[in-house]
Amino acid sequence: MRILAILMTAIAAMSQTPTENHDLGYKNTPMLPGLPFHVHDPDRPRPSVVTPAAQIGGAPSDAIVLFDGKDFSKWTSANRSDPKSSTTEPPSWNIEKGYMEVVPGKGDIATKEQFGDVQLHIEWASPAVVKGTSQGRGNSGVFLQKRFEVQVLDSFENPTYADGQAGAIYGQWPLVNAARKPGEWQAYDIVFEAPHFEGEKLLKPAFLTVFHNGVLVQYRREVMGPTMHQKLATYVPQPAEDSLLLQNHGNPVRYRNIWIRKIKIP
Ligand code: MG
Repeated sequence: MRILAILMTAIAAMSQTPTENHDLGYKNTPMLPGLPFHVHDPDRPRPSVVTPAAQIGGAPSDAIVLFDGKDFSKWTSANRSDPKSSTTEPPSWNIEKGYMEVVPGKGDIATKEQFGDVQLHIEWASPAVVKGTSQGRGNSGVFLQKRFEVQVLDSFENPTYADGQAGAIYGQWPLVNAARKPGEWQAYDIVFEAPHFEGEKLLKPAFLTVFHNGVLVQYRREVMGPTMHQKLATYVPQPAEDSLLLQNHGNPVRYRNIWIRKIKIP
């Protein structure tokens, strides 16, 4: 009997060891809460491969390149004051030496393609020759879905209201100032979660995460509503997807290396 007991114990111990798939995972582990998978489940579908760019800051394999320094083929002219408006007119901004530049008086520009949840990389430079002060100095803006502005401003030793500095969700949230000097190239890496509506009802507000020159300046910040000037932002029903818009605020701000990834956020 004692031998049988030892045998039974050994068999029980063996059943605790990894399954035949042990080299790819485990089936005798606990279930992950809320998921139909074990911890280290070998049957869990593996994520698709994204090949990163050869150079840091470059577009990965699944990104849509919106501007590579050559043309405006992915863009039209636009008008941020009326997000519902659209045009097929090409932008009237300039392209030179691998960057685009705002031409004062020539309107905003927006992507032809529309987006919901995204990761966005965009590089910009305010004019090297400083003109103006506060909001009049190197002002432009990255408007997600034509509505939610991450402020572009020459914020290097340029006092202005806190919720209007570079990297701010305009009129709402500053965090830190990570601005480079005028004329220097700067980068935004943005994660945008689009708002969800059911009819007129807001189910989920927008959220923004922003890195400015690699510095976290917004961390999954709940956005109060579409960008307003001198007013409180309030949500109004909008499409699930809309264009990315770049603001013409009358200053010759430059942009280059713009790419975007569509992401799925539950
Ligand atoms: Mg602006």
